[in-house]
Amino acid sequence: MSFRSPRPAARPLPLCSQMLVLLTLSDRGCSVLCSSVMGVLSARSHAPCTPPAPTGARRTLAASSSQPPNGPEPGSQPLKARTLSGMASKTTTTVTPKRVAHSPSLQSLKKPIIPKEFGGKVPTVIRQRYLNLFIEECLKFCSSSQEAIEKALNEEKVAYDRSPSKNIYLNVAVNTLKKLRGLAPSPTPGLKTGSRRVVSHEMVLGGKLATKTSFSLSRPSSPRVEDLKGAALYGRLKEYLLTEEQLKEHGYPFPHPERPGGAVLFTAEDKKPKDSACRICCRCGAEYLVSPSGRCVRAEECHYHWGRLRRNRVAGGWETQYTCCSAAIGSTGCQVAKQHVQDGRKENLEGFVKTFDKELAEDAHPGIYALDCEMSYTTRGLELTRVTVVDADAQVVYDTFVRPDNEVVDYNTRFSGVTEADLVDTSISLRDVQAVLLSMFSADTVLIGHSLESDLLALKVIHSTVVDTSVLFPHRLGLPYKRSLRNLMADYLRQIIQDNVDGHSSSEDASACMHLVIWKIREDAKTKR
Ligand SMILES: [Zn+2]
Ligand SMILES: [Zn+2]
Repeated sequence: MSFRSPRPAARPLPLCSQMLVLLTLSDRGCSVLCSSVMGVLSARSHAPCTPPAPTGARRTLAASSSQPPNGPEPGSQPLKARTLSGMASKTTTTVTPKRVAHSPSLQSLKKPIIPKEFGGKVPTVIRQRYLNLFIEECLKFCSSSQEAIEKALNEEKVAYDRSPSKNIYLNVAVNTLKKLRGLAPSPTPGLKTGSRRVVSHEMVLGGKLATKTSFSLSRPSSPRVEDLKGAALYGRLKEYLLTEEQLKEHGYPFPHPERPGGAVLFTAEDKKPKDSACRICCRCGAEYLVSPSGRCVRAEECHYHWGRLRRNRVAGGWETQYTCCSAAIGSTGCQVAKQHVQDGRKENLEGFVKTFDKELAEDAHPGIYALDCEMSYTTRGLELTRVTVVDADAQVVYDTFVRPDNEVVDYNTRFSGVTEADLVDTSISLRDVQAVLLSMFSADTVLIGHSLESDLLALKVIHSTVVDTSVLFPHRLGLPYKRSLRNLMADYLRQIIQDNVDGHSSSEDASACMHLVIWKIREDAKTKR
C-alpha cells in the first residue's frame, strides 16, 4: 500500500518529558544496543493512562517563519504507516563513511545516549540519531566538545518537548539541524570559525548515499530494453533488490530465531504502553483505554488530520501545515471519526509464513510481481482487508477482499477504499491469502511494492527478494522521509493516480509500482549503456 494510514502515530504530550541522558562511551555502531540497555536502567516512570491529552493545543513553531525554505518537498511523505517508523538505526550504518569523512571527532567522543523510553512519543533511535547529527554540527562551531554536547542535548530536548508527536518531532528536528548548520560561528566566545564545512542535507541524512547503495552499480551486458521480459527482466531486477541491511533498515519482517510463526523487526523501538489496557491513537495521538476484547472503554471521538504535513510559503516566511485543511501543525484535527484506532501490527508479530525455495522448470524464472494491500482498523489494530497482485505486464493476477480476524471498527475508507459493503460477502481469511501467495511466490520471486514492508506486515508474509520503489526513488532528505507513490507517478510517468474520492485502489497502486520499476530500468539502461 502506499501511504494509507492517515497520520503517523501522533503521540500525546509526555507527562514526564524530561530527558534522561546518561553519558556512556559508545561508538555509532552500538548506540542502539546501548540505548536499549541503558533504557532498562533509566527506570523512567511511565505516564499513566489518562483521558486523551489535549493534542489540539495550537503550537506555533518559532522556527517555521525563519527557517530556510528547503524543508521536506511538497507532498513529501513520512514513513508509511508511521508506526512502522522504520527509522532505523541502520540508516546510520549506510551513512557512516560520509559522516566519518566530515566529522572524525565524534568517533572518539564520549557520546550521550538517550535512554530507551517505553511508549515514548518518539522512538529512541530517532532521537538518538538526531542528537548525533546535532552534536556533529555543534562540534563545528563550539569551542569544546563538552559545549557541543550540551548545546546539542539542549536543542534535542527542545525539539522533543515542543513536539506532540513523532511526525512533528521529525519536522522540528530537521529544522533544528538546518538552523545549526546555518549558525554563524560567532554568538559565543571562543569559536573555531574556520571549521564549518558545507555539507548537503542529503549527504547528512543519507539520501544520496541511499540512492547509490539501493542497487548495485555494476551492470552485466545489457539486453536491449525492449526485450525486457521474463527471465531478462528478472535478471535486470536482481540489480535493484534490497540488501539484507536495507530490509532491516526499512522495517521488513524477518523470521523469529526461535518462535515458529513469529517475526522480528530490526527497527522496533516502540513498546506498548505499560498499562496493557492503554492504547495510543495512531491518528490523533490521544491515549485511550480498551477492554480485553480490544473495544474502546469510553465513547470518545477521534479528531485528526488525514493530510500530511507540508511546508508552505506564508506571508513573512514558511509554515508547516496539514495538506488536508491547511491548518497549522499541531492544530485540532479537521476530521472526526467515531473512535480512536491503533496500528498494532508491530505488536502482533505472530502467525507469519515465509516464502520457500522451489524447484524451477527449465527456462522458467522465479516470477516478478507487484503487490499492494489495503487495511482497515479492527479491535486489534490495522488488518488486511484487500490484496492485489499484478504481474510484470501490470495485469491483475490476484485481487480479493479479505475478512479480518477481528471486528472492524473503522474501514479507513479514505485510504483503503474498502467499505462495509465490500466485506459483506467475503469469507476469505488472512490464512487463505497466505496460502495463495505461498503457492504463487517462491523465495526467489521478485516482489515489487512501495514501502512493501507495510504490506508484508499486514499479510504476515516474510519475503526478502524485494524491489521497493520508496527506496529506488528516495526522498532527497533521506529517511525518515519517503516520496509518495502518487508523486513518483506524477513526476516520472506523468500519470495521476490515487485521485479517486472513494479511496485508493490496491490494483492501481500495484500497477503503478510495476510501471515505475520498469521505467527506472529503461532509464538506467539509456544513461549507463
Ligand atoms: Zn486537517
Ligand atoms: Zn484518535
